[in-house]
Amino acid sequence: MSSDCLFCKLVAEGDHVGKGNGFVAIRDINPMAETHLLVLPARHVDTFRDVGAFPDEEAGRMLRFVAETAKAAGLEDYRLLVNVGPGGGQTVFHLHWHVLGGRFDGTRIAKTLATEDA
Ligand code: AMP
Ligand code: ZN
Repeated sequence: MSSDCLFCKLVAEGDHVGKGNGFVAIRDINPMAETHLLVLPARHVDTFRDVGAFPDEEAGRMLRFVAETAKAAGLEDYRLLVNVGPGGGQTVFHLHWHVLGGRFDGTRIAKTLATEDA
């Protein structure tokens, strides 16, 4: 755990909507869609670019946990989003998956996908 990392703190003591073996799901504080969950691995890895830091078995479990989180939220159709690096819209540097379902806030999505320096 990185002591100055927001998501490490939320893994340890957040309001979890789901919890698995090494992973938690939380509600995004500023939702872009009717359902907007974040899947956080307990292991601190800065960004998806470094996904190789996960042992293969753990990386596989992470994918399954993402799918289980969506299913448990009642979603059949949904989108997954991983922002990678500041240029890719990442603002919290602890790897996480956005699980987005239901009605979307188009303005928020457009802002999220726009890069500041593009
Ligand atoms: P990203 O821009 O991909 O790094 O996503 C970071 C996400 O974390 C954003 O969608 C934020 O709304 C969300 N977020 C920031 N702080 C919190 C928090 N305390 N609890 C839940 N979600 C948060
Ligand atoms: Zn962290």
